[in-house]
Amino acid sequence: MIKTYQACPKKYYFQYVENINMPKSSLAFEKGKRVHALANYYLQKIKIDRIESALNDSEREVWELLKENPFYNMDYLKSEFTLSIKLSDFWLGGRLDAIVHKENDYYILDYKTGSIPQNPEYDPQTMIYLLCADKYIKNYDSLSFVYIDLKNKQNYIIKFNEQLKEKYEKELISICSLINSDSLYDCNKNSCKYCEYGKICNF
Ligand code: SF4
Repeated sequence: MIKTYQACPKKYYFQYVENINMPKSSLAFEKGKRVHALANYYLQKIKIDRIESALNDSEREVWELLKENPFYNMDYLKSEFTLSIKLSDFWLGGRLDAIVHKENDYYILDYKTGSIPQNPEYDPQTMIYLLCADKYIKNYDSLSFVYIDLKNKQNYIIKFNEQLKEKYEKELISICSLINSDSLYDCNKNSCKYCEYGKICNF
């Protein structure tokens, strides 16, 4: 919701105030969805031979990359689960791909078959997941967020600390307050080209 608002307040209005859902092609998301489901079963030690054999070439390539990733091979704590946190008057939450650890060092994993966010440190997903995991795990030596970028075959790691915690809390409260007080939902003229609301939007 926050990312939609940042992309265009008017789009946020259509989607979350008026509850208008526009049809979108799911093709672009299919690979990501399958790899995420498989990754979750694998971490939970569920037998996946039959699902693996049904993958197409491009899905198999991405899946093999994930299986070789050193973070994905760490000790498993939890996968595909929802966490939430209350900041000021706002409840924030999300669904994490996985949390793994090496002794008392914990890592939130996020598998990306597409691109990672442009500003990963201050992406709402990064900020919310780290704050939620900080509250959930409590006694850790270190906590990091790892974007596993399967497209570019690299990991992007953000290490959490008290300074970031303070910044994240302030930033998220400020965004939520802005959304909460907005009554105009003006467009920001940036992202109309591929917007699915283009046909009903007067802009
Ligand atoms: S068409 Fe443009 S202004 Fe309208 S909702 Fe989409 S992004 Fe916003």
